[in-house]
This record gives sequence, C-alpha cells and structure tokens, in this order.
Amino acid sequence: MTTENQVFMSLDEIKGIRFGCSKCHAKLTLPLRNLNLSSIPMTCVCGEQWFQGHHDERLRAVATLISRLNEVRDAQLPVSLNLEVANPSFSFRASNGKD
Ligand SMILES: [Zn+2]
Repeated sequence: MTTENQVFMSLDEIKGIRFGCSKCHAKLTLPLRNLNLSSIPMTCVCGEQWFQGHHDERLRAVATLISRLNEVRDAQLPVSLNLEVANPSFSFRASNGKD
C-alpha cells in the first residue's frame, strides 16, 4: 500500500517572504502586510547585489507576487483558496509483511 499526503496552506498562513542570499546564505524575512517595493533591499549585508534597482524586472515580479497575494487574501472570496506545498516527509510504503 502506498500512502501520499497532501499539504495545503491557506493564504492567511503566509505571513512573510524570506529572501536567502545565494552567496552568504543570510536570510531576511519581511512581513507581507504593507510590504512595498522600497522595503525590499537591493543588496545583501555581504554586498551581493540582489536586484539592480527599483526598475529591475525581477524585483517588480516579486513585488507583484506580494501585492497579488495580499489582494487575493483580503478579497473576501466566496471560496477558500489553498496552495499545495511540497510535503516534506510523507510518502511511505506500509508493508503487509510479505515484501
Ligand atoms: Zn549575502
């Protein structure tokens, strides 16, 4: 028998966004509420350039993601929305003792 569990996250459960530097692995978590473009740092504390200024398309994509998440979460939709996320540990085989 194979059992798989699905893991879902409601939009209310998403409290912040974490930036992780690919060079020094420093982490910075910013709250999603009231986060705007100018709140996102352009560089890491190690000096690694994360974004090339406020016109950087990648930064704008991140800002749009955050804005849309906040917008949808606060939209009072008549349906619930949940994001499926990777299950960290559940995918196992239960043996009937004959394997
Ligand atoms: Zn860094």
